Amino acid sequence: MRILVVEDDLALARGLVAAIRAQGGAVDHVDRGSAALREVRAQPYAAVVLDIGLPDMSGLDVLRRMRAAGVRTPVLMLTALGRLQDRIDGLDAGADDYLAKPFELDELQARIRALARRGRGGELASVVRIGALTLDRARGEADVGGAPLDLRPREWAVLDALAAKPGELVTRERLAAEIFDYDSPVAPNALDVHVGRLRRKLSPGGPAIRTVRGRGYVLEA
Ligand code: CA
Repeated sequence: MRILVVEDDLALARGLVAAIRAQGGAVDHVDRGSAALREVRAQPYAAVVLDIGLPDMSGLDVLRRMRAAGVRTPVLMLTALGRLQDRIDGLDAGADDYLAKPFELDELQARIRALARRGRGGELASVVRIGALTLDRARGEADVGGAPLDLRPREWAVLDALAAKPGELVTRERLAAEIFDYDSPVAPNALDVHVGRLRRKLSPGGPAIRTVRGRGYVLEA
């Protein structure tokens, strides 16, 4: 999943970005509302984390303009503690959820997981079973035949993306967009390395990941 963080407090933004990456998401960060509006139109984000107080415009205005432009990406609004009116205004403007500062990063992670599931069309089950594999998206856990899989964040992200379409080709471009940030350099074979590690962890007993040479991967149903 790919998340956009809109936050001008750079220390907080670093924490948000790290927390999202820790669970396997790719993150883009901007600190202005105008930049956020450009990004959401250009990229299919799974969710947007949007601060209400931005230097160039209110987060509420960003949200209203997004919705007016037909962008339906789920939005988690960050509000100041105790500002009840902020929350009401945020929900009125089309926010899907809100979190008052300060908040615990694991709460943020859980909210983002829930929003991202909703954002991908709402049809993604929180628990999927493919052969002996069970993927629990709400808890961020997976097991094969009851034995927990110890997955790194990017291995989780690859599995999550493949498991959304079992038996179907998921392109390399699609997978790369789910796990890599635009601003960090990526080795040409980085995706294959993550898939290779994931494949070893799934076998024996779990579903196979088939390579479609030069195009992508299929999680065999
Ligand atoms: Ca702010």
